[in-house]
Amino acid sequence: MSKIKKLFILALVSGMFSLTACGTGDSSDSTPTESTAESTTSTESAAETTTSTATETQEVTTTQFTYTTQEWKEPEEYGKVIALTFDDGPNTTTTNEVLDVLKEFDVKGTFFVIGNNINADTVPVMQRAVSQGCEIGSHSMTHDYMNSMTEEEITADTEQVNQLIKDAIGTEPKFFRPPYIATSGRMYRLINMMFIAGFGCDDWDPNVDVETRVAKTLEQCCDGAIILLHDAQGNSQTVEALRQIIPELQKQGYEFVTVSELFHAKGIQYLPGVKITFSKVPQ
Ligand SMILES: [Zn+2]
Repeated sequence: MSKIKKLFILALVSGMFSLTACGTGDSSDSTPTESTAESTTSTESAAETTTSTATETQEVTTTQFTYTTQEWKEPEEYGKVIALTFDDGPNTTTTNEVLDVLKEFDVKGTFFVIGNNINADTVPVMQRAVSQGCEIGSHSMTHDYMNSMTEEEITADTEQVNQLIKDAIGTEPKFFRPPYIATSGRMYRLINMMFIAGFGCDDWDPNVDVETRVAKTLEQCCDGAIILLHDAQGNSQTVEALRQIIPELQKQGYEFVTVSELFHAKGIQYLPGVKITFSKVPQ
């Protein structure tokens, strides 16, 4: 029996489990101005296991920009994989600086954007990210605590940000990072995307220096992990930290993939509606 099938059965029996064990500690997600992190993650179901088929590479030109579709290997061909993710953009400064570093080291990341930050100036930044092979996820429209929202508010927020993302890059997001990693059963029921948390280094806090960001990120890294960083405007310390984190992880043999590719690499089907907030994709 595969580990994932075992996990699935375990989840059915227990009704609840966490997929966050990797390194030490879990993430908290907040902005520099809102330092209260809250975690109400509930995990009630589990992912099934299926093997996705690899996709072919293709040049796609939209009316606004050109990108290359992902060339994914078969899941068994991947080694150690990790997904760098960035919250609280897009903006024209720090997001571009992060993209510069990703390009310099030829790696991909996933940007969880806030709808209120999407505008005529930042749409080209999102398109640039996609052109570099990066993925765009949703980090809500308003970055409010959605676990205290009504059904109508959750639905309106989600529809609004997803439409803005679709207008910008041509496709709706597949993954959702709840603001402050605060979730509820109502959110799981109404938000038809897979929920993502990750391992953070408190890089939303300007008092956490570059050295600490690098050390904490590296100590939490493991195969299948999702790393949670922030590209909020002015967060230059994370740009500097990335310049150390990426080459070190490359030296350790990690391959940097988007969140979509991370699930594909681990042979896990995309399952919107599954009641798990993933920090790590199971082996
Ligand atoms: Zn955030």
